[in-house]
Amino acid sequence: NRTTQEWQAADARHFLHPFTDFKGLAAKGSRIISKADNIYLWDSEGHKILDGMSGLWCVNVGYGQQSLIEAAAKQMAELPFYNAFFQTATMPAIELAEVLAEISPPGFEHVFFTGSGSEGNDTIVRMVRRYWDLKGSPERQIIIGRINGYHGSTMAGASLGGMSGMHAQGGLPIPNISHIEQPHWFEHGQDMSREDFGLKAAGWLEEKILALGADKVAAFIGEPVQGAGGVIVPPSTYWPEIQRICDKYGILLVSDEVICGFGRTGNWFGCETMGFKPDLMTFAKGVSSGYIPLGGVLVGARVAKVLIEEGGEFNHGFTYSGHPTACAVALANLKLLREQHVVEHVRDDIGPYLAQRFAELNEHPLVGETQSCGMMAALQLVKGKTPDKPTGTAFASELEVGMICRKYCFANGLIMRAVGDRMIVAPPLVMTRTQIDEMMGLIRRCLDQTWEELSQSG
Ligand code: PLP
Repeated sequence: NRTTQEWQAADARHFLHPFTDFKGLAAKGSRIISKADNIYLWDSEGHKILDGMSGLWCVNVGYGQQSLIEAAAKQMAELPFYNAFFQTATMPAIELAEVLAEISPPGFEHVFFTGSGSEGNDTIVRMVRRYWDLKGSPERQIIIGRINGYHGSTMAGASLGGMSGMHAQGGLPIPNISHIEQPHWFEHGQDMSREDFGLKAAGWLEEKILALGADKVAAFIGEPVQGAGGVIVPPSTYWPEIQRICDKYGILLVSDEVICGFGRTGNWFGCETMGFKPDLMTFAKGVSSGYIPLGGVLVGARVAKVLIEEGGEFNHGFTYSGHPTACAVALANLKLLREQHVVEHVRDDIGPYLAQRFAELNEHPLVGETQSCGMMAALQLVKGKTPDKPTGTAFASELEVGMICRKYCFANGLIMRAVGDRMIVAPPLVMTRTQIDEMMGLIRRCLDQTWEELSQSG
């Protein structure tokens, strides 16, 4: 029973937070989150907060789901841990592998478990290169990712991703990783239709492949919808064209489903929503609704055949690959998603409703663009909207308008993330329409307050 100030002081003294200004923490103090239920959080001061980010894109079934809690307790009592290294396996891991094969697109019969999404993407680098070694093409080493893509924080994950702030620290990317520009119509394509821009953006992949030499390229990796980059929903033409280009040059296609997987986009996997068939998929977050860490790689037939029939031992793995307690929680989570038809709820009901409600924000003088896909959505803060240019123009980045808006979100009891001047949400998939209305009311109030502050400061 410490006070909030005491918790904040201890936090600032000992806890180095990810992606957070270490100095700032001591000055400003953290908000201490102390409990949660359904889509709401409470802080140590008793303030109720609507969690518009599902934790960190992961608490898809909302907080307080008894079946997940009980699954963890039961498994911990029976067998909290055992490894999968000694030609041993645990029942929850086997059963989860089976269920993942059932819900994955056709051809995905195998899974390699990791403890996180970053480890899944690290695994991809070694798995893809091993595939090409076994195929007799060891010169195929290069993996192409995208600027502003996010694939995690390990050396390989952060290298595959295209976050300049991450590359600037620690000498990234590692060798043989290359990037193309992101399919961000608002930033790069406003002089053409979204469909034409989708083809143009996919064409950047072909240009890059030809520049590097097609026989040197091993794989392309992307998030079906870029999450941390700002919920960038690509035009409908983009992914089918990416698929065509990968097929043309025989390049493996990897879908990072860490955010998009398990219903977020209205299908089990984001690649299904975006209309492409990857060779490999990485996952984490929503597989266990973030109640416990778990990730992995789903391996499609093309790669599995080579790895299994020609490969033998893959010298790779983690202590927590197939962690039985994590797998038991994931099984309970997937059971809940299936029994309560959560994916269909997103696809047919609340996903389209969120899209409709976000589209209404286009009338706001601060909003230059809205985008959504299933239960993820973004709005772009702009100035100077006119009938001729309804998308407005960007604010100077040093104004940090996104952070002003975020300040009002916090003050109004809403977690909404600012990515530059793009405000994003990815709320739990179990939300009701009434709860979406409540969230939209808060968003509108935050936009109005941001508008007022900017108007006053000129
Ligand atoms: N890939 C994507 C698309 C992500 O959004 C994230 C995390 O946000 C990761 C990978 C990394 O996952 P983790 O933080 O579990 O390592």
